Amino acid sequence: MDLQGKHALITGGGTGIGLDIARDLAARGAHVTITGRRQEVLDEVAGDNMTGMAMDVRSEEDVVAKIAAAVKAHGPIQICIPNAGIAEGKAVHKTDMEFWRNMMSTNLDGAFLTIRESLKTMRGTDWGRVIAISSMAGLRGLPGAAAYSASKHGMIGLIKSLAADYLGQPYTFNAICPGYVDTPIVSRNTASISERAGISEEKARAIMVNSNPHKRLIDVSEVTAAATWLTGPGSQSINGQCIQVTGGDM
Ligand code: NDP
Repeated sequence: MDLQGKHALITGGGTGIGLDIARDLAARGAHVTITGRRQEVLDEVAGDNMTGMAMDVRSEEDVVAKIAAAVKAHGPIQICIPNAGIAEGKAVHKTDMEFWRNMMSTNLDGAFLTIRESLKTMRGTDWGRVIAISSMAGLRGLPGAAAYSASKHGMIGLIKSLAADYLGQPYTFNAICPGYVDTPIVSRNTASISERAGISEEKARAIMVNSNPHKRLIDVSEVTAAATWLTGPGSQSINGQCIQVTGGDM
């Protein structure tokens, strides 16, 4: 589908999954605004059809102001992809409020604020797609990562409710739930699992690789393929769904 004239917003779009989706949307003609906390990271990857804008999704003030500026520059947001996220494991009995709140604030509040501000502009158009990047941990428990899993479950509740709210309108709301994908988050987790469990980084990585049913890390392009489908022709009837990109039921 030609996305010429459409404005897409992808939080966490300077790296990993978000960047790969951003490149696909830009190649198909959309103007893509990518966000993250580090302007220098965004500047490195931005270019034709892609603008980098520093925005901390934990700050309501920042999200409101920055999305308004992006809309002023490039028009209403018709593709909204809340993707910014952090992933860290911690046993519940060791989880303090600061850790819990930061997880919720980034993964869940951030998705809510991004969608809310985007929807205000999408509602005036005749076509829109909201695609939240949740996780397989949003569909089932993840040992040692209750806060992360709870935040990702929350994103799915938000998406399903929005699909119900806007039933019959030309907007769809879906979540993509990946298994372990080869991105900077997995590299960081490798180091932290290795440290916490007192095992080598090789063993820590093998734990994640072997958690995927096909015993390999998923490539970012495989997650992008799902987003391409959801922004392509014929996807209007896919609404309120969680698309697993996991290699099988985990
Ligand atoms: P990355 O670490 O590459 O992406 C995370 C992005 O989120 C970064 O670009 C980061 O940019 C941004 N980000 C983090 N915190 C904030 C914040 N407070 N405000 C704005 N941006 C922020 O990893 P992935 O590409 O893997 O992760 C993308 C999404 O995919 C995440 O939501 C993750 O939970 C989800 N996911 C990943 C899986 C995997 O195995 N990789 C599996 C399942 C889901 P910056 O640091 O500059 O702010």
